[in-house]
Parts: sequence; structure tokens; C-alpha cells
Amino acid sequence: MADTGNRQPTAGRAESPVDPAGEGPAGEGPAAPGQRRPTAAAEPALPGDELGQAWLAARAGLTVTHLDTAAAGVPSGAVRAAQAAYLATEASVGSYVAQYEVAAGPLTAARETLAGLLDPALRAADVAFHHNATSGLAALLAAWPLPPGGRVGIVPSDFRSNWLALLDRAARDGLELVDLPTQPDGRLDVDRLARGDGPAALDGLDLVMFPEVPSQRGIVQPTAAVAALCRAAGVPLLLDVAQSLGQVDVTAAGATGGVTAYAGTSRKWLCGPRGVGFVAVRPDFAERLGVAAASGYAAGWEPAPAAPGGSRLVPAPGMGRFDVGEAPVAGWLGFAAALAEHADAGPGAVRARIHALAGAARRRLDGLAGWRLGEDVGSPCGIVALLPPAGVDPATVKDRLAREERILTTAIGPARARDAVPVLRVSPPVHATLADLDRLAEAVERLSH
Ligand SMILES: *Cc1c(COP(=O)(O)O)cnc(C)c1O
Repeated sequence: MADTGNRQPTAGRAESPVDPAGEGPAGEGPAAPGQRRPTAAAEPALPGDELGQAWLAARAGLTVTHLDTAAAGVPSGAVRAAQAAYLATEASVGSYVAQYEVAAGPLTAARETLAGLLDPALRAADVAFHHNATSGLAALLAAWPLPPGGRVGIVPSDFRSNWLALLDRAARDGLELVDLPTQPDGRLDVDRLARGDGPAALDGLDLVMFPEVPSQRGIVQPTAAVAALCRAAGVPLLLDVAQSLGQVDVTAAGATGGVTAYAGTSRKWLCGPRGVGFVAVRPDFAERLGVAAASGYAAGWEPAPAAPGGSRLVPAPGMGRFDVGEAPVAGWLGFAAALAEHADAGPGAVRARIHALAGAARRRLDGLAGWRLGEDVGSPCGIVALLPPAGVDPATVKDRLAREERILTTAIGPARARDAVPVLRVSPPVHATLADLDRLAEAVERLSH
């Protein structure tokens, strides 16, 4: 059978389920350092082999073993072609005619798809493109109505840039930043949140903000449960979906009605172009937001004799206040193509394959040469965070994997987030195969000595 012990090129071949429960031989614990976890007899079938093959075929130019989707997914040929075709259209009919007559329809469709992937309460009009998730999050935070001295619930795993945006706003408005209760693996502690005692009691907060999947950990926050608690406590929740949308069912949280706003990105699990992100806000809240960066795109003015300049800024209606103005419309259309491909592939099928691949990677890597998982082996997340054995630097291993094996991963350092420790991050794309993961495991083991 094709399994982890098989070094033949079996890429993409269907595997027969040997152990339907996927639990392996009775009594099998974590492998001891330096010992390979015996996966051979326990490999569950990988779902979506046909999807994986089609996904790879749509990326014909790929020359590396790409296990780095959390950094940047591989765009398909169609995503690249959509951008090139639109650039040609701009050069043919004029940039603004192209934008308003050619791009407008597909861009509205893309915002509708995004709305559907996020939250049943959202429509296309509730979604705006932005430069990236960082700029979108910062814009939402800058525009958010917070009283002086307001209290914001946060997590230690928040992305460095989000943390810096929080520090900036907190310093200007005297905000208090309160860590919400978390478990040792970084997941929010829903029981303690529900008890509602201590400084992080939800009903004493003005805003809650966290990434659904952190950049540096292979966990998924219990977002639906937290969103439901936020809704019950009447506190708005601003959710960073940069690392979750495309590999986690974000609508589960949206369906609680407890998520007020979202920021995310094109280039990770949705495999769109770089330099494209988005923000989305529930329609009943958008008008309460200010203007993050005043411009003629995002605002107008009206007379106000007592005000400086005799005028007052008026935010553009709804999500128009997040209009960034001049933008790489070709990139937005590339993102539209990527979203259409994601929807065609079936978001559930994509998630199932990614999570199965991550699980297969964890079973191969846990305990290998002393590397340890940062999360549960069954974590429903496409990120695998590997804690190095003593004396091994993840950055060196990542460099050598890229240079000697053409295997792409990420080395994460302590500057990534307040709770970050050095890890090697593996994040398999839909098109990865068990053979790719075997190669990775073999190389990691060899490069760790
Ligand atoms: C990558 C990432 C971001 C930032 O996304 P950009 O598009 O690079 O700005 C924000 N939050 C998390 C959790 C991320 O992983």
C-alpha cells in the first residue's frame, strides 16, 4: 500500500483506509525523541485526492514543494491570467472605463462571495477591499468608536502588527488593553470567559479583538462560542480572519450574530494575489465607525461655521468610508478569480483536505529527531507549529529545507507575537500529497543533526 513508509513517487494516489478511526495501534503514544512515529499501519485515507490533483494541475509553473500556505498560497494560472487580462483591458479602453464597466461586476460578485464565506448577515455592500489584512485591521481599529479610557479584550497570540496598532490607539486614547483568559496552547478559555469574573469580564469591555487562527500556532480559536458570549454581553467583536478564511468555517462564528467586523487577506489560504485584503462590517454597525484615513474617496465635508475651516468631515455612507481610492484593480480581479475557484472547489472539501494534510504532517513530525508539536495532533487547522529540539534553530532548518530540498516552510521567531517562541511552521496547500510530507519528514530528520 502507499503509506508513509513508501518512498516511491506515489504523489496524489488514493490511500485505502486501514484504520477508519485513524487512531493507530492501541497504546501508541507520542514517539520518543529521535524515533519515528509508526504511521505506516495507521494512515487514514486522505480526502480530496482528485481535488488535490486538479489544484496542482492549475498551478503548472510550480517548481518547489510548497508547504507554506500560511505565508502565501500559490495562485493558479487562472488567477494570474485574470490579472494580465485586466491590465490589457486598462491599456485598451482606459483605466476608469475598465474599472467601472469591466471590473465592477466581477468585483461585486467577489465581495458577495466573501460575504457568504464570512457571515450570513453580510452582503456585498458590507465588504470593502483593502491593501492587506494589516491595513484593514488598523483602519477598523482607527475608525472604531471607543470612549477615552475604553477597555479592549485581546489575546497574547495576536499578530505583531495588530498588537502595534492596538498600542498606538491605546496610547492616544488612554485605552486599557486586557488579556482574555487563554489555555496554555493559546486557545481562549471559554469556561472562564463565560464565568465572566475578573478584569476580563466581557460586559466590562468596549471591544474584543483576536485572530481566529494565529500566525505562529496551529490552533483555531473557539470563535463561535466566544462570539455568542460577546453578543450576550453586548460587546462588539473584531475578528482577524487573515489566517483562517479559506481553511476554517468562519461562518460558524458569523452565524451567532456576535461578530461585528472582520479583516482578512487574499494571499494565504484563499490563494489570491499579494497586496489585497478586505474589511467587512455588519450593516447595523458600519455607520457608527469613523473614517480611518481621511481622503476624498472615504469622506466629504459639510459647513460647520464653528469648526476649524468652517467645515466638518462627513464619512462616506456605509463601507464607502473604507474606500482606499487608487488601487491595483488587477489584483482585486485576481482575488475575485481565486474566490471563484475556492467556491467551485467547495470550501468544505478544501478545509477537509487541508486539515487531513496537516494531521498527516503532525503524525510524521511529532517526536521526529526531538521536534514537538505546538498543538494537538488533531487540531482542525492547516498550520503545524514545530518546537525544535535543544540546539536546533528553526531558521537554519527552514533555510536548508529551501536551499537543499526546495521545500518551503517558515521559521517563526519571538517577534511574531507576544506569545511567540521559535518554531518551524508547516502549512500544506490543497495540492500537497503524503509523499510531499514524507519528503519533509525525511529532510527535517536529516537536517536536525
Ligand atoms: C498574515 C496575518 C496578518 C496580516 O496579513 P497581511 O495581509 O500580511 O497584512 C494578520 N493576522 C494574522 C493572524 C496573520 O497571520
